[in-house]
Formats: sequence, structure tokens, C-alpha cells
Amino acid sequence: MSGMAMVVPTEPLYMALNSVKKLRTSMGDLHKLLSNGIRAEHAEGNEAKFAQEIQDHINRINRFYRDLEQATNNLVPPPGPFTLGNTASLCQESTQDKQALYKQLVQSFKWTDKVHEYSIVAGSLLSHNTLKRSYTNSSSAKRRRIQPSSHNVPPQAVDNVILNIDRLFPNMTMVIARPFASNAVLTVTLGRVLQAVIAFKGLMIEWVMIKGFGEQLDLWTESRHKVFRKVTENAHAAMLHFYSPTLPDLAVRSFMTWFHSYITLFSDPCRRCSNHLHNSLPPTWRDFRSLDPFHEECKQ
Ligand SMILES: [Zn+2]
Repeated sequence: MSGMAMVVPTEPLYMALNSVKKLRTSMGDLHKLLSNGIRAEHAEGNEAKFAQEIQDHINRINRFYRDLEQATNNLVPPPGPFTLGNTASLCQESTQDKQALYKQLVQSFKWTDKVHEYSIVAGSLLSHNTLKRSYTNSSSAKRRRIQPSSHNVPPQAVDNVILNIDRLFPNMTMVIARPFASNAVLTVTLGRVLQAVIAFKGLMIEWVMIKGFGEQLDLWTESRHKVFRKVTENAHAAMLHFYSPTLPDLAVRSFMTWFHSYITLFSDPCRRCSNHLHNSLPPTWRDFRSLDPFHEECKQ
């Protein structure tokens, strides 16, 4: 519980505990020796040897005892009582099943400590991340005003961009719906290969879910087929890759062009190994620039 721990040097404490351990062990050894009594090797005039063994043990105990004394002298008593806060009341708990709470409490303290530690690391890593897509944590309101927003685009403009893309690809059909207020949710059918749901926020692609034919189309459940789960994962990477706050319509067009290349998901061989299947999967990756198909393991 480092949150409330006082700074106590642990080295002397460790040494003191260690000397307690040594003392207890040597004491145990002496008792064992005494309870075993004189053994065959000590018989016939060898009693002196037994006495010597006992003497050795006692000497060792004396030495360890001195060590312990020294170690405890080195200990600094804590400056005040430990403040356990409300947890101190736990010892007054009389219900049987609640008495184990303290252990769980310590566990959760450790856990929150770790979460705190990890979130600091994650926070510093993410602050260097250039894939930041929203301006909610923008440092100044002024900056927010200047930046072109791909979030607040009128529905009609979004429809126009999508319809223009629809015209480019005859074997890809798109249906626009608006189940969540003004933001568009696009249902895309790519030939007889796959289906996708694409959620927009203004002109920004917010989420993609890819499914096979016959699967229920929604935004949150993953496909039961590994191949479509893999393509979904890659689509998420693509959605971030093509994102552009300054040219949102181009970003959508680039993404849809990339997405359209999956029309050959089950027919094109891998550009690298020239095989159709690798680990029982077709080439599920498409290069962002060339749109070349690659297996997951074959891309660089
Ligand atoms: Zn390959």
C-alpha cells in the first residue's frame, strides 16, 4: 500500500528478520539434536562428542542472538502510528464472511497502484502519438476554432461524398442509415465477398465491422469467421492510416478504395509467397498504397 506507506528503510528490517529466522532455525536444530539423544555413533565412550555437538549448537545460537540484538538496535522505530484509515475498523468486523476483506483490500490497493503506474506510462506514450483524432483535449480553444473539423459536416455533404464513392465502384453497394441522430452508418456489400458496417462521425470514419454473408450486421459483435475478424482488424488500421482532418472526403475515398480491393479476398494469391492460403487464411492484408494482397505473415 504505497499510497499510505511511510518511508521506512527496508534494509535493516530485512536483516533483522533474517537474523530472527536464523535464530529460530538453530534453536530448532538444537531441540532436534536433544530429542534424538545419543545415537550409535556417539556410543561407547563417544559421549564427549555428543556434548561437543550440543556445545557447538549453543555457541551458534549465542552468535545468532547477538546478531539479532545488533540488528534490532539498528532499527528505527516508525515516527508515529500507522494510519490505516477506515481499514482499521475491519478488525471489528464480526461477520465471518467479511473477515477476509482485508486481504482483498490489500489486493485492490496493489491493483490500483499498478493501474496508476501503467496509466502514467500509457499517458506519456499516447501524448507522442500522432493518431489523435479528436480535439476535445486540445490545449487552447483558439486552436480548436481554426482547425477544420471533420466532425461537424452537414448530413447532405456526407451523403454526397458517399454517393460519389458509390458511383466509382459498381460491384460495391452502399446503404446510408442514420440510426444515431445525424451521424451516418453505412452498410456496404462488397460483391459476394463480404459485408461491412461503417460508422461515421461527420465525415470521419469512427468504426468498422466486417462480416461474412448470412451474419447479422451490427457494429459491435465480431464475425464468427477468423478471416473477417482479421480483415476488420486491418480495416481499423486503415481507418487510422487514411484519416486526415484537413481533407476528410479524400480520407473516406482512400479508405473505401482500399476497402474495395478486398473484392479479390478469396481469389488473389499473396504477392510475396504466391500462395492462396497460409495458415488456412487467404491474404487478409492489403497494402495501403499499392493495394497488393499479402498474408498477415508475408507483409513487412
Ligand atoms: Zn503469403
